[in-house]
Amino acid sequence: MTTIYCTHRIPDVGIKMLREKGYEVDVAENEHPLSKEQFLENLRKKPYDGVITLLTDHVDGEAFDACPTAKIWSNYAVGFNNVDCDKAKERGLTVTNTAGTSSRAVAEHTVALMLALSTRLDEGDRFMREGKYKGWDPDLLIGVDLSESTIGLIGTGAIGHEVANILYKGFGAKIIYSDPIINKSIEDDFHAPRFSIEDTLRQADFVSLHVPLIPETHHLMNAERFSIMKPTAFLINTSRGPVIDEKALVEALKEKKIRGAGLDVFEFEPAVTEGLLHLENVIVTPHIASAREKARNAMSVAVANNLISFFETGKAINVVTR
Ligand code: NAD
Repeated sequence: MTTIYCTHRIPDVGIKMLREKGYEVDVAENEHPLSKEQFLENLRKKPYDGVITLLTDHVDGEAFDACPTAKIWSNYAVGFNNVDCDKAKERGLTVTNTAGTSSRAVAEHTVALMLALSTRLDEGDRFMREGKYKGWDPDLLIGVDLSESTIGLIGTGAIGHEVANILYKGFGAKIIYSDPIINKSIEDDFHAPRFSIEDTLRQADFVSLHVPLIPETHHLMNAERFSIMKPTAFLINTSRGPVIDEKALVEALKEKKIRGAGLDVFEFEPAVTEGLLHLENVIVTPHIASAREKARNAMSVAVANNLISFFETGKAINVVTR
């Protein structure tokens, strides 16, 4: 019998699909993501054929050693920076992700962060709760219009494309982008020109990050790059925390090199860099950009389909290799 280990509860729909195929699926009971030790210990319990992991699991050589029978590691996430893909390749293992399942959810969350900053929604809410509202004031909490803004997308894969779609069609915003790969559909559908990252940063009122976390994108946003952004510009990150040098971001915000930031992911999450949470011009959410029922169910189905396809045909669907 095919046996699968899943390191945390995920929506039932995918687990049911696997059980209907006759697979035995052990789902960990833990409330929180597993510690490394617990993860390794659980992997040693049975000769599993496949493993479902979360983005918080470090899937490295030690994990592969702990469960040498598992030939497929199905990550319940779009990003797969938590998996040592080189080691997996060396050992002939298959690694999969859930590409495309949460693009709309993450794009809506990205736009929500932009709107919260542009309308000063969060600051207004705090102002009210602190009892500071004494009457209508023509100068109170003046924001900016997304419709008048230039949006600089760094990375225009599935999520970047959806962000452009919402902002171009829904708000009439101007879209520009930077991506090593020319994106014909973003250029044709949203009249978005492609620039170098520096030229994108110089022009954008909102810089929005939609890149994978790979060695080339680690600290893609750093002190030097903050200094070329407009002092009136906002930075949005719903990709992965280490894409930003968070210490340099805190400095840039304090020194008003940029106007504000909307962040769903953090360099050392769940920890947040000292000083970030004291800043008024920052809005933060706890890595919930894909936390919508539809997206999470789709992720669960994708995880199951990858496993089923692998065991039935020898080839998974969303194979990642980097
Ligand atoms: P994707 O693979 O479809 O697109 C990534 C794009 O980034 C590609 O077009 C690629 O060419 C581009 N890129 C790579 N290196 C670049 C660089 N140096 N500069 C500019 N562009 C570069 O991925 P996606 O589905 O759009 O997801 C993007 C990332 O979002 C994922 O890798 C994941 O880490 C993150 N994500 C976060 C959440 C969340 O909950 N916050 C949810 C889903 C995905």
